[in-house]
Amino acid sequence: MTSTTCATVYGYPRQGNKRELKKAVEGYWGDGNVDILLQTAQDLRAERLHLLRDAGLDEIPSNDFSLYDHVLDTAWMFGAIPDRHQQAVPDISTPGGRLDRYFAMARGTAEVAPLEMTKWFDTNYHYLVPELGSDAQFTLDASKPIAEFNEAKEAGVVTRPVILGPISFLLLAKAEQEGIDGFEPLTLLDRLLPRYAELLQRLHGAGAEWVQLDEPALVTDQPPAVLAHAARAYAALTSGSDRPKILVASYFDRLGEALPVLAASAVEGLALDFTGPAAANLDALAAIGGLPGKRLVAGVVDGRNIWLADLPRALSILDTLAGLADRVDVAASCSLLHVPLDVTLERELDRQVKGWFSFARQKLDEIVMLARGISGGRDAIAGDLRVNAARRGARQSSPIVHVDAVRERAAAVGDAELHRTSPYTKRREAQQDRLHLPVLPTTTIGSFPQTAELRNARAALRSGALDRDGYNAAMETEIRSVVEAQEEIGLDVLVHGEPERNDMVQYFAEQLDGFLATAHGWVQSYGTRYVRPPIILGDVSRPEPMTVRWASYAQSLTERPMKGMLTGPVTMLAWSFVRDDQPLGDTALQVALALRDEVRDLEAAGIAVIQVDEPALRETLPLRQADRGEYLTWAVEAFRLTTSGVSDGTQIHTHMCYAEFGDVVQAIIDLDADVISLEAARSEMAVVDDLAEASYPNEVGPGVWDIHSPRVPSVNEMTMRLRAAVAAFPAARLWVNPDCGLKTRGYTEVRASLRNTVAAARSVRAGL
Ligand code: GLN
Ligand code: ZN
Repeated sequence: MTSTTCATVYGYPRQGNKRELKKAVEGYWGDGNVDILLQTAQDLRAERLHLLRDAGLDEIPSNDFSLYDHVLDTAWMFGAIPDRHQQAVPDISTPGGRLDRYFAMARGTAEVAPLEMTKWFDTNYHYLVPELGSDAQFTLDASKPIAEFNEAKEAGVVTRPVILGPISFLLLAKAEQEGIDGFEPLTLLDRLLPRYAELLQRLHGAGAEWVQLDEPALVTDQPPAVLAHAARAYAALTSGSDRPKILVASYFDRLGEALPVLAASAVEGLALDFTGPAAANLDALAAIGGLPGKRLVAGVVDGRNIWLADLPRALSILDTLAGLADRVDVAASCSLLHVPLDVTLERELDRQVKGWFSFARQKLDEIVMLARGISGGRDAIAGDLRVNAARRGARQSSPIVHVDAVRERAAAVGDAELHRTSPYTKRREAQQDRLHLPVLPTTTIGSFPQTAELRNARAALRSGALDRDGYNAAMETEIRSVVEAQEEIGLDVLVHGEPERNDMVQYFAEQLDGFLATAHGWVQSYGTRYVRPPIILGDVSRPEPMTVRWASYAQSLTERPMKGMLTGPVTMLAWSFVRDDQPLGDTALQVALALRDEVRDLEAAGIAVIQVDEPALRETLPLRQADRGEYLTWAVEAFRLTTSGVSDGTQIHTHMCYAEFGDVVQAIIDLDADVISLEAARSEMAVVDDLAEASYPNEVGPGVWDIHSPRVPSVNEMTMRLRAAVAAFPAARLWVNPDCGLKTRGYTEVRASLRNTVAAARSVRAGL
């Protein structure tokens, strides 16, 4: 078979070079101007279309664009709109009405809560969770995919519409009334499939030749029942004749048990990821005899990281695959949504270093090169291969990347450095003697509200309007007021409030060698929120103390213990682009050593309580169970290396949030932190039962109020939560704190909430 290899992607960033989409959407929230929003969106799509075509892609996706989130779009398309949002915005007869209901689902209104938001697999993108009841009736509103298809067609491009597949849509949804009757949305499959069939028919009618149905949920461990549903779904969707060809796309990991199921189905094509742990797809594919008669789209360019592709390696994978399918096409491993737009926007970056990176725009070139290299032979891309080899070679041998002193120190780390001097029970005595805390001590997670003045001060420092001394003075003023407020409210262990931190990862990345910040490397986190993850470029070390001056200053203002605040090694990696030239565990170890020095410096400066935040520890858990043990081993070791260099009397805290912790309880125990604070309010302290059941031996502060809402929790509700905790877990080892940091909240509600927290702690203490 000698059909030419085509170059394609599953999706491209939606934002626009200047984040025009963010501005347009937020502008709409402000002024309600429908025309401007819709016109900007249309312009951005047209721009993307030309860009993808001019880059040389042979097949271009459509409907990968979204005003807010593609899962929300899917829910909308199938009429999965909760009653509360219909009531909040009853009239959708106009475009503005439709937008208002859509954004009500995304962000809530003054009266109703939005859909819940959660992480899109193991990326840092967040999607909105569709809510489905057992009585859900699906309808079809295909206007968005059809309009976007037609719009491209008019511009001369027959695109491949991208639709979230039925199995993933239902698996990502949650039961409207959670847990009430054990209802699972997947049981709605038979009701949903006819709407998908109708959609396929509509797209076919519009002229689509291929449709891409994304099924990333099938790369996670699924029981046979789910796989049977998948088989049934694709049997149903392929049964009709009035439909486009179907490409089922999987990404983020290997398909595993789902591979033979999809291979046996009548879909015309499969897209598989061949990067990272998903490289296992290669052997699995060979083992089932390939995909005879099908199209295989091979994700060989890493769609989630920013490094130049290893072109020779990708070519050799493609060569191997050539014998395993009817036709092999080239793509990135997943939508390019997860990488920044274009490295050429980074004007400040050293030219050589810039050459090591490939952002979304550069990945298009790599994909096109690879397709040419397969269709036309290596000679056709000889020049590209030379440049690629030279740049990758330069990176490999660069002294920015490899720093002997760091590597030697990391290699010398021994088991002793992973252990505190004494076991927890002994440390506890030393800490009690030093800290004199009451039972049920109160504290917060670190940040206090980031006020406009703080942001202005940071901007003024950047623009030069404020010098370093002036900026530091502004921070000290803020710290003083945060400390005074906490003393006045009566908290037991204080924090300095983190006013000097723009972001808990970026702040440290800017101070550590081996990290690099970008100027335009924006990546969508959710909706209109974009983040600029730092890049871990080379061996990591700490040129000088990073937080000691702030912690010492704060401690100098109070007799009460002041917590030192650090971001842990796993979270530093999770919210950065990581190296691809060494195992993650090795990078974590280097970061841990740098942080270990910071922990020791804080201790030497007289800080008796040090918190090392690891909010990302749970969320970075590999998608497949089989990979989790290895991850947790290095993650726990990195944390222990960070925190074990202190004396018994120094109390180590950690903090985690955004997740359910049931499946990492053993890792939490293994961290051996003296105290862990956990998000718990929304689950009504369920984690306390998990910890009690696992005989968690150290101290825990389950969050007694949800900081995601501006609502001030009452003394009574927090007292109830605390009583529930005390009933399940020894009071002597419980702390009282909110769910997470307070930086997104306002001062008025924070003061009131903290007062109530202290009152609740006192009342429960009195009843012990
Ligand atoms: N110490 C950080 C803060 O309070 C923790 C943030 C987090 O857990 N995401 O902001
Ligand atoms: Zn948190």
